[in-house]
Amino acid sequence: MKPNKNNIPGIHNYCDRWCERCTFTSRCAVFESTSKLSSEQLDSENKEFWDNLSFNFTEVVDVLKKAAEKYGIDFNEVLNKETTEEEEKKRLEKDDYAKNHPITKLCREYSKLCRAFLKDQTDFTEKVRELVSQGHLGIKSEEQIILTTIEISDAYEVVQWYMFFIEMKIQRALRGKLEDAEEEEESEFLKDSDGSAKIALIAIEKSMAAFAKLHTYFPEQEDNILQALSTLQQLKRNTETEFPNAYAFVRPGFDTINKS
Ligand code: SF4
Repeated sequence: MKPNKNNIPGIHNYCDRWCERCTFTSRCAVFESTSKLSSEQLDSENKEFWDNLSFNFTEVVDVLKKAAEKYGIDFNEVLNKETTEEEEKKRLEKDDYAKNHPITKLCREYSKLCRAFLKDQTDFTEKVRELVSQGHLGIKSEEQIILTTIEISDAYEVVQWYMFFIEMKIQRALRGKLEDAEEEEESEFLKDSDGSAKIALIAIEKSMAAFAKLHTYFPEQEDNILQALSTLQQLKRNTETEFPNAYAFVRPGFDTINKS
């Protein structure tokens, strides 16, 4: 299948993977290749998933072979090169560093608070009606009740979506920062670690806004919500300190075509 020439290269590297809410689906190669997959092809327990993966891998190898030929690189040598013990040791050290970094630990504290908050499945409409009957929200009409229910459900989904995503991107940023430090010369290019930190910061800010909204509707969970907000605030500060250039990173599409 020929890729869409309007796709924005690399856009999927610094997005939040929330395709349902993304305005760039028509210009994203990842969306293009995954949106047409059947439920069997998306299920790692199913043979069709692995068949599809193997097919994609073969296609990628073909593209790389052609690129290698163009630049006079022996592709087979690259493909068959074994990882040395030293390289493996370094990889494990980086993993260990990222997994045990204080910011990563803070991310885990945060996701624990989210789990505590989300553990009781709530019927949002019921919740709003109950608060209305207790005179808490200052709303009365059915339309206002529906709009408020949508608002709660939206904020709830935001918390759910980002609760593990933030840690994943922070770990990637920390690993990337170590790799950048290994390079002998300072690169003039934008750093992947800053891009990963930037999308983590965006997710942190969106989660803060969501919890600030939920605070009004879940008075019985006030302690939990305030702790989550304070942890997010700390996460934001520490990430900004660790990655001072994160906000300056220009994400393909999102920061070049419109702001999101
Ligand atoms: S850029 Fe948008 S469509 Fe593509 S993977 Fe990210 S969220 Fe999904």
